[in-house]
Amino acid sequence: IQALQIPGTKELSLKEKERTVSEAQKKRMDLDETKRSLPIYPFKDDLIAAVKEYQVLIIEGETGSGKTTQIPQYLNDAGFTADGKKIGCTQPRRVAAMSVAARVAVEMGVKLGNEVGYSIRFEDCTSERTIIKYMTDGTLHREFLSEPDLQAYSVMIIDEAHERTLHTDILFGLVKDIARFRPDLKLLISSATLDAEKFSAFFDGAPIFRIPGRRFPVDIYYTKAPEADYIDAATVSILQIHATQPLGDILVFLTGQEEIETCQEILQERVKRLGSKLKELMILPVYSNLPSEMQAKIFEPTPPGARKVVLATNIAETSLTIDNIIYVIDPGFCKQNNFNSRTGMESLIVVPISKASANQRAGRAGRVAAGKCFRLYTAWAYKHELEDNTVPEIQRINLGNAVLMLKALGINDLVHFDFLDPPPHETLVLALEQLYALGALNHHGELTKLGRRMAEFPVDPMMAKMILASEKYKCADEIVTICAMLSVNGAIFYRPKDKIIHADTARKNFFCPGGDHLVLLNVYKQWADTEFSTQWCYENFIQYRSMKRARDVREQLVGLMQRVEIEVVSAEGDSEKIRKAITAGYFYHIARLSKGGQYKTVKHNQTVMIHPNSMLFEDLPRWVLYHELVFTTKEFMRQTIEIESKWLLEVAPHYYKARELEDSTNKKMPKVLGKAKAELQVVN
Ligand code: ADP
Ligand code: MG
Repeated sequence: IQALQIPGTKELSLKEKERTVSEAQKKRMDLDETKRSLPIYPFKDDLIAAVKEYQVLIIEGETGSGKTTQIPQYLNDAGFTADGKKIGCTQPRRVAAMSVAARVAVEMGVKLGNEVGYSIRFEDCTSERTIIKYMTDGTLHREFLSEPDLQAYSVMIIDEAHERTLHTDILFGLVKDIARFRPDLKLLISSATLDAEKFSAFFDGAPIFRIPGRRFPVDIYYTKAPEADYIDAATVSILQIHATQPLGDILVFLTGQEEIETCQEILQERVKRLGSKLKELMILPVYSNLPSEMQAKIFEPTPPGARKVVLATNIAETSLTIDNIIYVIDPGFCKQNNFNSRTGMESLIVVPISKASANQRAGRAGRVAAGKCFRLYTAWAYKHELEDNTVPEIQRINLGNAVLMLKALGINDLVHFDFLDPPPHETLVLALEQLYALGALNHHGELTKLGRRMAEFPVDPMMAKMILASEKYKCADEIVTICAMLSVNGAIFYRPKDKIIHADTARKNFFCPGGDHLVLLNVYKQWADTEFSTQWCYENFIQYRSMKRARDVREQLVGLMQRVEIEVVSAEGDSEKIRKAITAGYFYHIARLSKGGQYKTVKHNQTVMIHPNSMLFEDLPRWVLYHELVFTTKEFMRQTIEIESKWLLEVAPHYYKARELEDSTNKKMPKVLGKAKAELQVVN
């Protein structure tokens, strides 16, 4: 009861007080009842007994059965935090970590951040009192650096294991190793689907605890022909369901924030046009950057007579369970970070989901009653075009970050690291080469002093290198701002459909010589000059929330700079210094203008384009550096700056040779690649 903060309680009369108390009691009772109704509840005692008996336990249960929210509470009740140790629980996604922690805090009647907290990159919401800590898998990975034996924890739950994110996969190997040295540490590996046997085999035959789920039948509908525009198809389906089907909430799977916002806009417009002919339709988005007060909204019960439609990324596939979903709309796509180990190029692309994902999505419709799933693809496509399972991240993304972290943990022999599924050899080689070129590893493959400092920063190795290079180029102040702005993966510029011209003019006002990174810097500086004004953001079509987050990230980066003893000095307007520091980190991401106004990447001669939102879109400088590639209709470079080719020789002399920067026909590999390969064979 103590948790339910009712404003102004003091002034209430006795009668009112009684009423509020009873309301609070009622809420408490409702919560308790909800907890008792979860499929996991009848297994509480058996589960605790199993945890006491075995050091490692695999837990398998249908999504929504209560694994993530209940197990830490059960363990807490059973005394696993009595000796001052914590229960940790990892999540692949930041939104899930935050949202689940918030829920558990409510269930336990405590304030979020006290006994129950969460820790995600650039945001730690825990305290001395925290006994149940949710965190992203990446955060736990980092905790190993400061506390290699996880001494603070009595239990560690690796949750959503089936998601097979890179960090989770690496954690498997790390926690398995620790369990040997810490017989008192309990390990729970929890997953939604059918990988339990595989996890059990990896953890030396650990027993599997199965929580029988409840599932109602879900009817599946396919489209007759492929949909050209799935956002449009999705909005049409939503309105059709709303107009013709009995009440029940709708869940729609889209690939990212932009798509969700587009869909939301179209939907709002169409609903408005239909006027009062229809019942109320509440449109709620969920994606990783959504502010937490908005996240909480998706869990609020739908008012009687209304219908809720949740537009979500695949976060709602297994990480978050929204009650009362009866209809699922599945366009069949998700956004994936893909890495080409041949070219070393990384790119965000929208790809078809796997059959396993499609089935998970459909399953979301059958949790509380019989449901319906509308797949916006054909039955033929499902059968013949979708892969059975999603390829684990470790086998398809750049391993630079992971390798740097493992090296920083003193794990030198990566080839023999205990992987659940090993990464492809060439990806590992490429990561080693990249870290070597960045100066993080020496030619024996050992971590250098620079590499050790780089590992302090929770960012990818290229960004870490750029931060450290800012010391040499005396522009740390600007570089941390740029990093912070690049790290808020939400949009900075606000571009509402009905004010596109105004918004674009406002954006152009921030243009300044050099390129997009400097534009970001300019935005931040001007905002800081207004004492971080909300009004200013509003007037300039800047997203205040993203800016606020950039400010938080910046503060943390400045703290880390102090830890590695870099003075945060300003370049005093010298853009060349700033661009050189950026180049020192991102010299892999260089493209050169070739005939016909096309850009080609220097090392692999891939065609890439400047993104239309870039301030360099019309300039077309000869040499550009890009922050990332995004594939939509073409391979686009997002966030680009103009550089001079001679800087490449200055910042990466062992990667670039003068002759390959002269004429565009030379595509020879530099010697260093051969050398790094030879080195790996030695390690082998
Ligand atoms: P699992 O981990 O097995 O998939 P969860 O523990 O996440 O299951 O979910 C159990 C229940 O808790 C679900 O009914 C879900 O709707 C509810 N729940 C989870 N997070 C929240 C939240 N933030 N607000 C309200 N209910 C929540
Ligand atoms: Mg869960």
